[in-house]
Amino acid sequence: MQSFTGVGVSPGRIVGSVRQMPKAVSEPPAGEQLASSTTAEDAAVTLRAAAKAVQAELKQRSVSATGAGKSVLEATALMAADPMLIKGAVKLINTGTSAERAIWESAASVAEMLHNLGGYMAERATDVLDVRSRIVAELRGVPAPGIPASDEPFILVADDLAPADTATLNPAVVLALVTSGGGPQSHTAIIARALGLPAVVAAVGVESITDGTAVYVDGAAGSITVDPDAEQLEAATAWAANAATLAVFSGEGVMADGHLVPLLANVGGAADAVKAAAAGAQGVGLLRTEFCFLDRDEEPTLDEQVTAYRGVFDAFPGKKVVLRTLDAGADKPLPFLTDASEPNPALGVRGYRTDFTSPGVLKRQLAAVATAAEGTEADVWVMAPMISTADEAADFARMCGEAGLKTPGVMVEVPSAALTAETILGEVSFASLGTNDLTQYAMAADRQLGPLAALNTPWQPAVLRLIQLTVAGSVAEGNNKPVGVCGEAAADPALAVVLVGLGVNTLSMTARALAAVAAVLAKVTVVEAQRLAGIALAAPSALEARARVRAELPILDELGL
Ligand code: PEP
Ligand code: MG
Repeated sequence: MQSFTGVGVSPGRIVGSVRQMPKAVSEPPAGEQLASSTTAEDAAVTLRAAAKAVQAELKQRSVSATGAGKSVLEATALMAADPMLIKGAVKLINTGTSAERAIWESAASVAEMLHNLGGYMAERATDVLDVRSRIVAELRGVPAPGIPASDEPFILVADDLAPADTATLNPAVVLALVTSGGGPQSHTAIIARALGLPAVVAAVGVESITDGTAVYVDGAAGSITVDPDAEQLEAATAWAANAATLAVFSGEGVMADGHLVPLLANVGGAADAVKAAAAGAQGVGLLRTEFCFLDRDEEPTLDEQVTAYRGVFDAFPGKKVVLRTLDAGADKPLPFLTDASEPNPALGVRGYRTDFTSPGVLKRQLAAVATAAEGTEADVWVMAPMISTADEAADFARMCGEAGLKTPGVMVEVPSAALTAETILGEVSFASLGTNDLTQYAMAADRQLGPLAALNTPWQPAVLRLIQLTVAGSVAEGNNKPVGVCGEAAADPALAVVLVGLGVNTLSMTARALAAVAAVLAKVTVVEAQRLAGIALAAPSALEARARVRAELPILDELGL
């Protein structure tokens, strides 16, 4: 039986048939000329036909799509027949350039022009580049890039997924995600958990599985098996039955001994917040405000910000909402704050540090938060990302105070902040552990890279020790400040137990994970969680830490988590 192993990043056991995501379209060589057997007129006709075919396909897909996916497809379909795009390409064909190269260059100039116009038009630049790849694929007679269109459910196998793929990923058709690249903190992992799809990343060799092959995916174990046997078919059926139970969260995180662990949601805007409230989240532990303004060339106005934040606050009357100020940089660039030419963006001017280079933006954001908080019933807390020193924490607290915001806090996601948590927490009211970045920086391993996935897990004993130190600093004499976790670690039910055992007070995660984490916490007492935290801390490796803790929690296997 052929099988592949990767890193399981979203639980679930499923059997389905594989569809490979077509590879990205390569750039036609610069200077590529028309073949001697083709006239410019014929090449222009072929190009127009290819553009029409792409437009028809996108239009047809948009009919059955919904929400954001529908708008993306409609906008891209319009772009495929854009007269400026086609005219520019035909002009180049008339000078002897090949059709593929001509559309490539014409799209590049249109995209640049749109980009320079700024605002809404700048956002359309991505559509032009997507359309050009589709037209080139059509000219070459190869499958269109992106997630395959299909009415039949399938298991998607890809190198890695980009944030833009989320818009066209239909969770009713895609049963599970398997990638050869990507790490546990990559976009694929975050998308899979948000959609509740079983997923395995960094599974070397899966690109060799042919379309239509039946496979069994275990998203907790991190395995993919070709031609599943009867036992695996049974496991998939049992998971489907369990999934219904795991979809319901009672609205209170409570352990076997009655100890309360508030379970909060990570959200990127009002729409997410409304869904999270409906899923029973006890508040918001992380509002990623940069998600409200990705693709924006200019700083959002005060009114735009107030509307975006108010939408989230209004979804949680009487509940805590932790808003994080803009965390621009590295994998989340915002053109008005970050410098795309930095040599090491993850170590660059990102998060709170953008206040050094773009003073004023943070102050205006805090004013917008204060305005949005007025008159809402949410309990608004505000935290800064990427804090490294106690001076930065003190400055942030002062700015919050000046804006009239009473509960300032910091993300602990840089090892220096964990090591000096006692002093830092002396300056602010709370801390939230960002385990995604804390892991990347503690292990010096880029969170997006598949080959580093084994290093890049919050099960690393070194990361657990940094969490332990943060909690110790938070309860040191005179502090007594709450510490939560809002990184992906909180969504792993076994690790959630360890985090509570280490003394963390609240856990914040994608709303989809709430029920599974609650189900496991409900089976464990605090004393038991502390024992399991001890086991994880003492383990010689991340793999051992995970295996030893999981072996003590049979509920995980029962629920297929
Ligand atoms: C983190 O780093 O753990 C975190 C929650 O922030 P983000 O994933 O947005 O960087
Ligand atoms: Mg972070």
